[in-house]
Amino acid sequence: MKSDIKLIDGHGKRLDGRKADELRKIKIEAGVLHRADGSCYLEWGGNKVLAAVYGPREAIPKHTQNPLKAIVNARYNMASFSVEDRKRPGPDRRSVEISKVISEALERVILIEQFPRTMINVNIEVLDAEAGTRCAGLTAAGVALADAGIPMIDIPVACAAGKIDGHVVLDLGQKEDNFGDADLPLGLAPRINEVILLQMDGHLTMDEFNKAFELAHHGCLVVSEMQKKALLEKYESVVQPEEVVQDVQPEESE
Ligand code: ADP
Repeated sequence: MKSDIKLIDGHGKRLDGRKADELRKIKIEAGVLHRADGSCYLEWGGNKVLAAVYGPREAIPKHTQNPLKAIVNARYNMASFSVEDRKRPGPDRRSVEISKVISEALERVILIEQFPRTMINVNIEVLDAEAGTRCAGLTAAGVALADAGIPMIDIPVACAAGKIDGHVVLDLGQKEDNFGDADLPLGLAPRINEVILLQMDGHLTMDEFNKAFELAHHGCLVVSEMQKKALLEKYESVVQPEEVVQDVQPEESE
């Protein structure tokens, strides 16, 4: 959508004061739900996202089972209170598309061949939306899958870059998404450096595309470190190294 709104000032500062290559504030917490096999709560700017993983468990109905691999079933849902005007509850064209691209991205990293005839459910609930929810959702799903102990070649992560007022910038906010020129969400398996999701909304020249891809790639690597930190924080607090050492001290002989 085009408008007269100025998204970047003469000093290169954006509406929320960020520089072109600056991410919004991100907070990640692993293992927040007790009944799910793995979970994650993630805040990314104004986005609040919860991801819960169930499985692998026997796929039902039985005819959906694949004898060679697990089915990855990601379900992206936006709460009706997550956007400015109440959203009609339930799936719509957009959420079906996002669920599909996230499922396909996750299939690329999960070792699905190890779990034939099963399904792995990944529920992504967007509680508050402020642009970039598919990246936030995929990032949260990556942490929730790792928290569930599901074998993966890598922890998937995502980040977008885009173009506003003719400038290529990292991680679009709501107004930048609404009134900007283009958005390029990128999903990455960072350790093996493989693209698992790439979409584009709007128009970019080849040079702009390369620059946006580079920025989004850099964003993914930064967020990937935050994912690992969140997982370490959870598991470090479960197992205190000092306690383990104390437990294995041999008893003093008389
Ligand atoms: P993403 O959230 O991955 O950037 P979109 O580009 O489709 O996906 O959406 C951009 C933003 O527009 C969303 O994050 C959300 O804040 C807003 N939005 C999406 N769908 C709706 C809707 N049905 N009603 C109001 N706002 C919406």
